[in-house]
Amino acid sequence: MRSRLDGLRRHFPSARVVGAWLALMALPLALCLAMAYGLSLYHYRSGTSQLADANARRIESILRRGEATLVTLERTTGGQCNDANIQAMARIVFQSVYFREAGIERDGALVCTSAGMLPEPMAIENSRRKPAARVGTMEILSPTHTLQGGRSLILNHPLRADRSRFVNLLLDPKVLVEASDYLEGVQSATFLDDAPNGRFLRLELKDSPALADLTLPLHPGIHRGRGGYFAVARAGAYPIYAVMSVSDDRIARHWRTQMQPAVVVGFLLSCMALLLLRRFMPRTSEADDLREGIAAGELEVWYQPLVDARDRRIVGAEALVRWQHPRRGLVLPDQFIALAEENNLIGPLTRRVIEQVKRDLDALGKLPPDFRISINLARADLADHNLVATLDEIFGMGRSLGRLGFEITERELLANMIGRAREVVEQLRAGGAEIALDDFGTGYSGLSHLRHLPLHYIKIDRSFIWALDTEAVTASLVDNIVSLARTLEMGLVAEGVETEQQRAHLLAIGVFLHQGWLYGRVLPFEALRKLLEQD
Ligand code: C2E
Ligand code: MG
Ligand code: MG
Repeated sequence: MRSRLDGLRRHFPSARVVGAWLALMALPLALCLAMAYGLSLYHYRSGTSQLADANARRIESILRRGEATLVTLERTTGGQCNDANIQAMARIVFQSVYFREAGIERDGALVCTSAGMLPEPMAIENSRRKPAARVGTMEILSPTHTLQGGRSLILNHPLRADRSRFVNLLLDPKVLVEASDYLEGVQSATFLDDAPNGRFLRLELKDSPALADLTLPLHPGIHRGRGGYFAVARAGAYPIYAVMSVSDDRIARHWRTQMQPAVVVGFLLSCMALLLLRRFMPRTSEADDLREGIAAGELEVWYQPLVDARDRRIVGAEALVRWQHPRRGLVLPDQFIALAEENNLIGPLTRRVIEQVKRDLDALGKLPPDFRISINLARADLADHNLVATLDEIFGMGRSLGRLGFEITERELLANMIGRAREVVEQLRAGGAEIALDDFGTGYSGLSHLRHLPLHYIKIDRSFIWALDTEAVTASLVDNIVSLARTLEMGLVAEGVETEQQRAHLLAIGVFLHQGWLYGRVLPFEALRKLLEQD
């Protein structure tokens, strides 16, 4: 079940890859949107807090002026109601921007105001009420209905210690509420904390969702309400609080206006992230892909015939691996051998090839005595003893490797590896396998390899063969390779023979074993079997 699922998964780009790409697309976008929301929040939080502070300072200065005006009233009138004093009071009120009316109260009754003399003293309860606060020489009374202008905040100034006489000022509470046009969507409110009378009063009446759960006592700062945020500032020593509120809806609306640039920036960042990802993803995902492909049995071994050019008889074949990728189709080894080497996958890859070669040799049944299949080895195969262990496992301990050849390219034989490679090569030889040095002439230390490694064959690289017809220098190099091989008593194979001229030239200089398109391409096993049956 599991392997079927794995197989299915490999026909599509891996869900992990798609998921990672989508996440990478989404992440910068989400971050930019979150940042835009953070900026909207900051805009309103700092805006409301600054406005609340400014309004609190303004309220404090109005009340200070009230205190000073009351002192002036006391000094000017001495608490006496006569025409001159009434005129003086009217002048003082007229000159002040904030106060509606001034009055003189005696024994619980209002005797005169800045508007004139009362026909008879009017009993009022101000002097008997408990003030909300006493600051300096001024008492603040919570708003009540007054003669002038409806509800007024009353600022009282006792003239005597027995509180039988007062001068007072009426203050329109609206004056203490700041119009909050500076910051769109912010609502302003002003509260009087009349704690001595157990009351907490809003000085004007408007609805604001952010203030829904305003709780006492108020503390200066920014607070979270149920429907938004509110900033609180106190008017100095006076128990009056300036509150600025903003609803969550308002912040969200502001955020939406910022969304467009955030989406654009987020999209650009997503693109950059994807470009960066492309540099890293393919490597890891391709390696995973290959690992899964090897495990899922997608590697196939194809064969290229090795012929004796004199009579064109097939005397062997080279095993060349192919990857039947579920999405990419047939992938050639040049595209994945290096990947396998970089990702420690040569071990399992070579094992697959050997297993397949063993199965195919068994399937071929009776073969000419000298027929061999040669297997390409990579550096990692020569670096440890896993290869020999794998061969023992697949062919059986002590069984002959007489049907096998192994090809090592010069590139694999770094100088510091010769000792180890030699051990492996000797063990393969001891089992009866033949060893060839592949792509001879393309490496950089051919001669030292020839001296140090017990080899059977040299495979002349196809680039030399192709140049045989055209380049005299190369042709003479091939002559040298041939005489070198003779001196060292090694066999020769010519790779990549494509034309009759090349064949004739090679035969003339005594190179009889050929491999190349002239004789046969790289074929699936069934095609090779048919060729062998015809032979
Ligand atoms: P190689 O061992 O030198 O294999 C010969 C390559 O030459 C093959 O390429 C073959 O298709 C190509 N070839 C043969 N005759 C002709 C010809 O007449 N003309 C032209 N133009 N090309 C010809 P292929 O199969 O793509 O393999 C490439 C290389 O990949 C091999 O070079 C070998 O180094 C490596 N390789 C292939 N299979 C394996 C494997 O199972 N294990 C390891 N480690 N390497 C492998
Ligand atoms: Mg080869
Ligand atoms: Mg070769």
